[in-house]
Amino acid sequence: MRQLSTIADLRVFTSGAPRPLGLVPTMGALHAGHMALVAAAREECASVVATIFVNPAQFGPAEDLARYPRPLSEDLSMLEAAGVSAAFVPPVEEMFPAGSATTVHVGAPARPLEGEARPGHFDGVATVVAKLLLQVGPERAYFGQKDAQQLAVVRRLVADLDIPVSIVAVPTVREADGLAVSTRNAYLSPEQRAAAPAVYRALAAARDRFRIGAGVPAGAGTQVRAQLEAGCRERLAREPLIDAIDYVAVVDPETMAPWAGPGAAMLAVAVRMGGVRLIDNVLLE
Ligand code: AMP
Repeated sequence: MRQLSTIADLRVFTSGAPRPLGLVPTMGALHAGHMALVAAAREECASVVATIFVNPAQFGPAEDLARYPRPLSEDLSMLEAAGVSAAFVPPVEEMFPAGSATTVHVGAPARPLEGEARPGHFDGVATVVAKLLLQVGPERAYFGQKDAQQLAVVRRLVADLDIPVSIVAVPTVREADGLAVSTRNAYLSPEQRAAAPAVYRALAAARDRFRIGAGVPAGAGTQVRAQLEAGCRERLAREPLIDAIDYVAVVDPETMAPWAGPGAAMLAVAVRMGGVRLIDNVLLE
């Protein structure tokens, strides 16, 4: 596996790499969720570039940029063992040299939910993802369903900027008790960790209710949405270690607009346990 830190070296590598080429963008501190993206890319692509970049532009001023874990040598060993062709690990100055003044701003799908809770977050994500896609030039790029709004924002940006790449969504990898695997789970106390699966249980219960009521009558979408959101919110509120519920929303997974049925629906939640923010979602089908 090659380890690359400059865009110039990356371009030399990609110009000779067997195609199709797959891109797996990450912030490092790799876990089973990231490795599922790598496995999907390995299956479908002749070469895989994984990137590790803790993107300062997507962290708010009060967020965890400074304490975000950076176990680089473990990450590189995991990527190598998984058969990645090259790891691109650019320093911040390579991605944002002095004088950088361009931001990629995605509109509608970036506005609600995480966009409201984390102002500027998706500008940072969209700018770096656009840069990585232009730097690497992959045929395919892999993103987790775990960050469903990020996926919708990336799909929108690729369509709007006519970037010739297929965006591949990989299902959320979960712990045995249902908790979505996430770097930030490490910030939970043992008590909070034990309580955290309540988030997925609330989502799964709503999904089961949706299945049982399959076949939403014409015009009843808004009412079904309200019932599902209220039921999920009530379950989350029953867990004493959940300190705040940022949102519970049934949305169209492509536009992130409130779901009014029929068609694809997704239930997304964000909660806070102490200082830790957990997000998760399920597709309703
Ligand atoms: P991050 O390093 O947190 O920016 O995540 C990098 C990529 O891994 C994103 O596309 C995430 O959606 C994806 N990812 C993170 N956690 C999971 C998970 N539990 N299952 C599937 N994909 C994930």
